[in-house]
Amino acid sequence: MTARTADVLLVGAGAMSSTLGVLLKQLDPSLKIIMVERLDHVAQESTDGWNNAGTGHAAYCELNYTPKKADGSIDTTKAFTINSAFEVSLQFWSYLVEQQALPEPSNFINTAPHCSFVWGQENVDFLRKRYETLSSHVMFKDMEYSEDAEVIRCWMPLVMQNRPASQPFAATRVRYGSDVNFGALTRFMVEHLGKQPDFDLLVSHDVQSLTKQPDGRWLVNVKNKADKHLTPITAKFVFLGAGGGALPLLQKSGIAEGKGYGGFPVSGQWLVCTKPEIVEQHAAKVYGKAPIGAPPMSVPHLDTRIMNGQKSLLFGPFAGFTTKFLKNGSYLDLIKSVNPSNIGPMMSVGANNMDLTRYLISESLQSHESRVKALRNFFPDVQEDDWELSIAGQRVQIIKKNPAGGGKLEFGTEVIISADGSLAALLGASPGASTAVQAMLSIVERCYKDQLATDAWQQTLKAMIPSYGKVLSNEPELLSEVRARTLSVLKLDPTL
Ligand SMILES: Cc1cc2nc3c(=O)[nH]c(=O)nc-3n(C[C@H](O)[C@H](O)[C@H](O)COP(=O)(O)OP(=O)(O)OC[C@H]3O[C@@H](n4cnc5c(N)ncnc54)[C@H](O)[C@@H]3O)c2cc1C
Repeated sequence: MTARTADVLLVGAGAMSSTLGVLLKQLDPSLKIIMVERLDHVAQESTDGWNNAGTGHAAYCELNYTPKKADGSIDTTKAFTINSAFEVSLQFWSYLVEQQALPEPSNFINTAPHCSFVWGQENVDFLRKRYETLSSHVMFKDMEYSEDAEVIRCWMPLVMQNRPASQPFAATRVRYGSDVNFGALTRFMVEHLGKQPDFDLLVSHDVQSLTKQPDGRWLVNVKNKADKHLTPITAKFVFLGAGGGALPLLQKSGIAEGKGYGGFPVSGQWLVCTKPEIVEQHAAKVYGKAPIGAPPMSVPHLDTRIMNGQKSLLFGPFAGFTTKFLKNGSYLDLIKSVNPSNIGPMMSVGANNMDLTRYLISESLQSHESRVKALRNFFPDVQEDDWELSIAGQRVQIIKKNPAGGGKLEFGTEVIISADGSLAALLGASPGASTAVQAMLSIVERCYKDQLATDAWQQTLKAMIPSYGKVLSNEPELLSEVRARTLSVLKLDPTL
């Protein structure tokens, strides 16, 4: 059978593949791109609305991005990295709105002030120190801090309703935090790609195998899930943006750079409230501190969500134990991913993380009543019947070989690229879709080095992301300029 040919094959139709597709098409409209998705619609896995929390992660409110150091000071490294990466996403989305490649921003991004809220003297001291450290830098200069019950009540009335005054509490706020409907954003980006010449989307098609050919191209076999028909596609460059499905495909590719990786799946659940009289009383994302022993992605938060013009509230996440790599995956995913190159690291992570496994199992077995009890810490007057359980997406945390031969469990995102730059894969899920643009740019930089050096690509990149090539945290004027533009184009600053 004659194979179809492409310059770029994007596996998966989530936030990552769609971002890379749009970036590449903007840089070179002549590229022939095929996107393959196993489900019958775009963005139905982790990227879809309720499958994630929709937080535009900018390190304004997430306390796990600013751990306390041994000497009592605050480690802000991760906060600056994530804030800079989110500024890149905001610039790219603003550009696409201006180009009318994306619609009116409220269709995919809305203002939801980003707040942190803590109680107990030790946590209050930590939050104050975090505020002092961060707000002294131009990047976080708009952060506000308060220990005053009345001020905090204005920021988050539900959180303060009937809260005993005997306990010390404190909060911070950045007004222009955001709630992003990554599912909608992705569907708009794929719709835009669909209007370009030389772009094809194959839904209900599953990538079964990929093999490097002697001519340097990848031969990818794609199965139509309806009629089981196999279509061979050859591509110069393949991106495995398959979310939880990226690890098995990376293993199938056989590239040396993918050896030794394993995955540790964690499922998620939310409590959701759609009652208008309650929803209307909360307009923020309020992040707290993770309970002791909980993994970093289990930081509890009470959030405003805005999807398709409808407001609702979300509380969670409640993590859970699973062996599936995708929400629509198979219970055999975990066991099938074990191979001779990763069995050592996987066994070592399993043995050294029994506490985490126990925590995840206990979270999965929680009753509605005990989940509502956790919510009561944030919303003292909560009524059990006003909230329902909703199942979120899966996150596959990365297991890596450590130099001592054992395994290491990581909670970040990692891009893996073959030595010749012909294949890239994205593993992990945090900080996730918020930093997709930065992650995909890192792939462009390594896989399209020669093209990127040309004036044409440099000019397009600068038009899309004016801060490209600069470290925003070191450039206060540029940051102010860039931020003023994105907050205005995306209509995120309520004071503008
Ligand atoms: C509970 C939870 C909360 C989160 N909260 C946030 C948040 O607040 N903010 C944030 O920025 N990020 C958040 N994230 C992370 C974010 O959702 C992900 O990082 C992002 O959606 C990943 O996008 P993706 O395109 O890599 O994967 P996905 O959206 O999972 O897309 C991968 C696609 O590949 C397809 N696929 C898989 N295998 C194959 C195959 N063999 N052939 C063809 N197609 C295949 C899948 O069907 C799927 O559509 C959260 C994630 C979870 C699970």
